[in-house]
Amino acid sequence: MRHIAIIGSGPAGYYTAEAIQKLWGDDVRIDIFDMLPVPYGLIRFGVAPDHQSIKGVSRRYEKTALNENVRFVGNICIGRDVTVPELQTLYDAIVLATGAPNDRELTIPGADSGNVFGSAAFVGWYNGHPQFAELNPDLSGKHAVVIGMGNVALDVARILAKTEQEFAGADIVAHALDALRSSNVETITIVGRRGPHQIMMTPKELGELGALERASPRVDKTDLPDEAEDALLEPGLRKSVTHLRSFAAIPEDMHAEKPIEVAFDMFASPSEIVSDGSDGSVTALRVERTEVKTGKAVGTGEFYDIPADLLVSCIGYRTSPIPDVPFDERMGRFANDGGRILNGIYCVGWARRGPSGTIGTNRPDGYAVADLIHEDKEAGKLGRAGKAGREGFDALATERSLDVVTFRDWKKIEEAEEKAAREGAPREKFVDIEAMIRAAN
Ligand code: NAP
Repeated sequence: MRHIAIIGSGPAGYYTAEAIQKLWGDDVRIDIFDMLPVPYGLIRFGVAPDHQSIKGVSRRYEKTALNENVRFVGNICIGRDVTVPELQTLYDAIVLATGAPNDRELTIPGADSGNVFGSAAFVGWYNGHPQFAELNPDLSGKHAVVIGMGNVALDVARILAKTEQEFAGADIVAHALDALRSSNVETITIVGRRGPHQIMMTPKELGELGALERASPRVDKTDLPDEAEDALLEPGLRKSVTHLRSFAAIPEDMHAEKPIEVAFDMFASPSEIVSDGSDGSVTALRVERTEVKTGKAVGTGEFYDIPADLLVSCIGYRTSPIPDVPFDERMGRFANDGGRILNGIYCVGWARRGPSGTIGTNRPDGYAVADLIHEDKEAGKLGRAGKAGREGFDALATERSLDVVTFRDWKKIEEAEEKAAREGAPREKFVDIEAMIRAAN
C-alpha cells in the first residue's frame, strides 16, 4: 500500500487524485488536504459566480472524492497545523496543489491607498472567501479602474457592471450583491500597458461584455492596428480582437442608452496611484502612454490621470510559500523541475507552472504528475512501502486536537448552503469558517 498526500483541493489537486487512483487502484490511499473546511479551491473562490457552468466540473471531482481510497481532510493548514517534514514521515509522496492565492504586487507609488485592492482580495470578496469577506470595498464613487488585460480583469469589470437581475442563478454572496445593488459606479476603465494584439482575454469571456444589460463597452478606434494585421494572430486572439473591433464600432447613441461604460484604455502603463490627502483613498490612476516595441511596452514620457474611486489590480498571482519547501521568488511558485521539487515532493497546476491556462489545463497537469510519481516509485525513489499514511495522520490530528472536516461534513455544509440560497441561486455560501464548522457539526 502507498500513501499520497495532496495539499490543496482545487482542480489540480482533484485531477491528480483522479489520475493516481486510475494508475494504482486499490494499492493507494490518497488524502487531499485543504486549509478551509470546504473543497474545490478555485472553483468555489476564483471562478466568477455568474459562470456556473464552469463550476459544474466539481461534480467530476466529487466522483473522485467519494472513492473509498480518497479522503478529503479539510480545515488543516499544512505548514501550520502539520509540517511538510512530518507529512514526509507518513506519506510516500506529497503533491502541492496549492494554486496561486496571492496577488502579484502592483509596485507603484500609492499602491497602499484606500479602496485599492488586488484581484485575489476583490474576487475573494464577491465569492465569499473567508479571508476577504470583510473587505468592504467602497462602491459609492462613480469611477472604477481595473488594471490588467486578462480574464480576471474581465470578470471584475463584468461583476461591477451587472444588474441584480443579471445575477439570477449566480452564487454571488449576499454581502457582495447588497453592495453592488447600491453601487454608484458609472465608468469602469480597463487599463492595459500594451495594445489590442497583446490582450490575454479569451473570446467567449470578452464577448460577454457586449451583451450586458446596462453597460456598454467602449474601445478607441485609434488604438486598433490595421485590420489586415489580425490575420497573423492565433485564432483565439484573433476572435478576441474582432470583439474589440465590434466594440469600437458601437455608435455614440447606443452608448448613451446605457448608464455604465466599460472603457478600454490601452497603451497605458500604471505609474502612480493618486490619493486624496484627507482619507488616503484613491482618486486617480496616473499612467504613462506607451508604445509597443517588439512586444514590449515602452513609455513615451506622456502621463495622464484616469479618475478612480475604486481600483482593482488584476495583474496575476503568486503561490504561497510553505516552510521547508524550496520556492522560486522570482517566478512566485515552488522551485521545481517539471513538477519535481525534492525527492517525494511534487507540485502541480498553478503551484508548478504559475497562474495560466483554464481549469481544464490542470487535467493533463494532474495526469503528468501522477506519471512522475509512478516513474519514481518504479525507480525505487519513493523508498519501501509501509508508511503509516492516513492512520498516522489521524493519530497526529488527535494528539494535536485538530478539527478535521471530512467530505461527509462538507456535504452537510453544502446542504445547508443550498437550503439558504435565495430564489434561483444554487447556494448561499458561508463566508466564515466558524459558521462552516457549525453547519458540519
Ligand atoms: P493574465 O491572463 O496573465 O493577465 C494579466 C494581465 O495583467 C496582463 O494583461 C498583463 O499585461 C497585466 N499586467 C501584469 N503586470 C502588470 C503591471 N505591472 N502593470 C500593468 N499590467 C500588468 O492573468 P489573469 O487575468 O489573472 O488570469 C489568470 C489565469 O486565469 C489566466 O490563464 C486566465 O485565462 C485564467 N482565467 C480564466 C477565466 C475564464 O476562462 N473564464 C476567468 C478568469 C481567469 P502584460 O501582458 O503586458 O504583461
